[in-house]
Amino acid sequence: MTIAIYPGSFDPIHNGHIEIVRRASLLFEQVIWAAYDRPLKSLLFSEQERLEFMHEAAKDLPNVQVRSYHGLTVLFARQAGAKAIVRGLRATHDFEIEYQMALTNAQQAAEIDTVCLMTGAQYAFLSSSILKEVALANGDISSMVPPYVAHKLKARLAQLGEDRGDKVKMVSLTE
Ligand code: ADP
Repeated sequence: MTIAIYPGSFDPIHNGHIEIVRRASLLFEQVIWAAYDRPLKSLLFSEQERLEFMHEAAKDLPNVQVRSYHGLTVLFARQAGAKAIVRGLRATHDFEIEYQMALTNAQQAAEIDTVCLMTGAQYAFLSSSILKEVALANGDISSMVPPYVAHKLKARLAQLGEDRGDKVKMVSLTE
C-alpha cells in the first residue's frame, strides 16, 4: 500500500488545503492528513479543533485518515510507513521554503520523498494568515473556507475581540 502524509499546521484548514488532500487521495492508496500538534507559531485553534475541521472536510474520502503528531515530520512519516510527504505549492515564494524542507527531510530519511502538488489557480494566493486577516476585517470568506470553518473562525475572532477589547493586538495573531 502506498501511503503518503500531508502535514501542516492547518490553523484552520481552508479550501486550498482541502483541494490538495482530495488530489492526494486520488494519487495514493492511503493519505494521512496530519496536523502538527504544537507548531512554532501562535495558533487560533486548538489541536482538537483543527482536527475536527479536518475530519469534517475528509468525511467523504475513505482513504484519508486524520491524525495529529509531535516531533519531526519525517519520523512520523517513517513510523506511519509513508513513502511520500505531500505539500502544496502556491505561486512563487513557497518553492524555496519547500525545497529547503524537502532536502532537509531527505537528509533525515532518504527513503521518504516529497511530492509537491501545484495549487489550483483559484487558491494560489490563499493562506491561513490571509484568511484570518480578511475574517478579522469582516470581509467575505465564503469562497475561502467551508461554512463550518467560517462560522467558528468568526466566532473565535469575535470572542478574542471581546476578551481583549483591542483590535491591534488581534492583528498580531495573524502574523
Ligand atoms: P505549514 O505550517 O506547514 O506551512 P500550513 O497549514 O500553512 O502549514 O500549510 C500546509 C500545507 O498546505 C503546505 O504544504 C502548504 O504549502 C499547503 N498550502 C497552504 N496554502 C495552500 C493553498 N492555498 N493551496 C494549496 N496548498 C496550500
